[in-house]
Amino acid sequence: MLFSTRPIRLNLKHPFRIARETSEYKQNVLVSISDDKFTGIGEAAPSVYYGENADSVMQVLEEASTFVGDDPFALEATMIRLTSRFPGDSSARAAVDIALYDLAAQRLGVPLYRWLGLDPDRTPVTSFTIGIDEPKTVLNKVREAAGYPALKIKLGSEKDLKVMHTIRNETDARIRIDANGGWTVDQAVEMVKHLSDFDVELVEQPLPPGSPKDWNKVHEAAAMPVIADESVLTSSDVADIADLADGVNVKLMKCGGIREALRLIHTARAHGMQVMIGCMIESSVAITAAAHLSPLADYADLDGNLLITNDPFIGVTVHNGRLVLPQEPGIGVVPR
Ligand code: MG
Repeated sequence: MLFSTRPIRLNLKHPFRIARETSEYKQNVLVSISDDKFTGIGEAAPSVYYGENADSVMQVLEEASTFVGDDPFALEATMIRLTSRFPGDSSARAAVDIALYDLAAQRLGVPLYRWLGLDPDRTPVTSFTIGIDEPKTVLNKVREAAGYPALKIKLGSEKDLKVMHTIRNETDARIRIDANGGWTVDQAVEMVKHLSDFDVELVEQPLPPGSPKDWNKVHEAAAMPVIADESVLTSSDVADIADLADGVNVKLMKCGGIREALRLIHTARAHGMQVMIGCMIESSVAITAAAHLSPLADYADLDGNLLITNDPFIGVTVHNGRLVLPQEPGIGVVPR
């Protein structure tokens, strides 16, 4: 099979600020894997927070190309080989995994969701993310997002409560909060109590990963579900958080692709937890791949492609907030 890689720069509509960082663009990497008839496409959206960047991804993929044999259906063996050689390079592995699933499903002539046995009518509503900003700018962004029935509000600055007042005065949309671990335990306990006044659907990653004692305090204080994101990378992280949170945010880039995401989802369910399927800043390639798994999730936060101005692809679309999966074989993305 032919293996090729290409970096892409995704420009953000607004500088994107979360509790720990601000960015104006995102450097991702595309992977194509072709046989004599079909081409599967994948994408890596590396995060410095998880120890990767576009250069490290390009290096990993150069070597990874020699790990991918001639059979795109040999996913288990290929991904085990890649994971043992590149344990810390989850987004690079995700790019290969997505491209292989895309290629294999194209060979089968079915959309990925169908191969996975999932019902495309069961996709959830996706939230639309509003980054940290001055209350006035947040208000403008909330107005721009009027077509989305669910908003994910990034908190973790000294203006959190002011921002919440501003938003609730403007909209009745469902509101999900993501602190990206930006609160101390005292702040988090205080905030989850206040957030009940704003009819908040859930709170994501109130604290940094670690400290079960602190997580327990916040979990007990929160009337709404607490979802773990940065605390859970793969299925082996679920057991440790199962009593401290109500759900997990599954991202292809954190866990290493579709195959591990399925394991992670099922592990979370086995622990009685809720499931959110989320993303990084990604083009429609990785977003669409994740959207095919979304019928398994309670919540979707698949808006990375909606936050950029130069998405090179068309795939999953959003109608009245709900994800609509493409019907073409594979993950079903085409160049824009
Ligand atoms: Mg998050």
